[in-house]
Amino acid sequence: MKFKAPVTKNETVTATIVDLTYEGLGVAKVADYPLFVANALPSEKVKLQVTKVGKNFGYARVLQRFNDSPDRVKLPDKVYMQAGIAPLGHLSYSAQLKFKQQQLRNVYQKNHLDIDVLPTIGMDDPRGYRNKAQIPVRQVKGQLETGFYRRHSHQLLPLEDFYIQDPAIDHAVVVVRDLLRQYNIPAYDENRNRGVIRHIMVRRGHFSHEMMIVLITRTKEIPQAQKLILNILSQLPEVVSIMQSVVPKATNVILGKTVKKLYGKSYIHDQILGHTFDISALSFYQVNPVQTEKLYQTAIDAAQLTGEETVIDAYSGIGTISLSLAPHAKYVYGMEVTEAAVADAKRNAKHNGIHNVKFEQGLAEDILPKWQAAGIKADALVVDPPRKGLASSFIDTVGKMQPKRIVYVSCNPATLARDLTRLQEFGYKASQTQPVDMFPLTQHVESVTGLEREK
Ligand code: SAH
Repeated sequence: MKFKAPVTKNETVTATIVDLTYEGLGVAKVADYPLFVANALPSEKVKLQVTKVGKNFGYARVLQRFNDSPDRVKLPDKVYMQAGIAPLGHLSYSAQLKFKQQQLRNVYQKNHLDIDVLPTIGMDDPRGYRNKAQIPVRQVKGQLETGFYRRHSHQLLPLEDFYIQDPAIDHAVVVVRDLLRQYNIPAYDENRNRGVIRHIMVRRGHFSHEMMIVLITRTKEIPQAQKLILNILSQLPEVVSIMQSVVPKATNVILGKTVKKLYGKSYIHDQILGHTFDISALSFYQVNPVQTEKLYQTAIDAAQLTGEETVIDAYSGIGTISLSLAPHAKYVYGMEVTEAAVADAKRNAKHNGIHNVKFEQGLAEDILPKWQAAGIKADALVVDPPRKGLASSFIDTVGKMQPKRIVYVSCNPATLARDLTRLQEFGYKASQTQPVDMFPLTQHVESVTGLEREK
């Protein structure tokens, strides 16, 4: 029998929201068929218009809301939801923290993992936290604009206050935008792959207040570059570095593989847990400096080091976790694929006078077997992989290396649960997971899980 959805496109229905998806969309059910709805919270009765009908689920938008959830808060501007900047911005912060704890519980339950999930560690003020921005530059209605894409589209919504970014970064974007307008430097045109300025990237040290501006361009040449640079420097005294990254092709990738220096240093400084770090344009660096210290402290505690251990920090970036662990360990080995980040990590160790660390560049799934073959025995292993989680060959090597403890720092509950299940097969048991809110007002869930090898 051919399945037929109980609703049709454009139909209006009235329903009560019963759940929230992991992306923060409300769930309404019509004869068991789920409709996903933005800006709708559990217990809210809403009049909906169906916008999309799929085989197993559909999408709808709210035409009218009959009651407010007790967890609903007012966002200062609905553009933040349209742009996906603050997809959970309509949910009270305490409810967001519970939502994130629940996401982990749900995924553990689905995977039959018996691991306790602690209450999420949140921020005192969950706004203006981001230390980095990558802002698209486009021509809108005859004028160069900076802003944010409407969700699931390439339509730029002009915006000056990004709400979750460091306000000094918002200000810098406006200054650069106005200078681009003043000197008639063309915005990138996506449809024809023409124009010059694709994105403005800004990074600012939370403690140092040093700022880096990266101009991401289609062309190598930037018209009026000298005037632009001089004016940026005079109007933004925090800027210590101006870089350029050229991305000639039509692509969704924001940053190129290389950067060129236009002014100053090729990195900025910042501090974490008392150590100073050089951060270059291409290196990964945690975007929420206040929460990063809490995240790392949680990871250090979970490693339960006495000062005698050999530790491996896989996916080490610029060495921030490695250097935070080093004072508590005998020796720390870091591995990381991005060359610029490894160079930053080595410099960072030296500048902080830390000598019991070593960094190697390469894929974690290649380096771990190499180290294992070379006889390196880790007592503890810290992993902080990207969203796709650990390669299964990496986990196989962990099974051979048999570190006593593993600390898993995760930004994706789904791959975390998958990897914890595999690690369990190798005798590793986790008792609890500590979520730390690194991305307030968004659906992203970061967590730390300590595992111990069973005898
Ligand atoms: N622990 C660091 C970085 C975490 S982000 C911090 O807290 O800042 C994940 C890092 O893994 C990035 O630096 C990315 O470049 C790196 N990476 C991604 N895939 C990798 C792989 N297969 N092998 C090694 N490093 C990888």
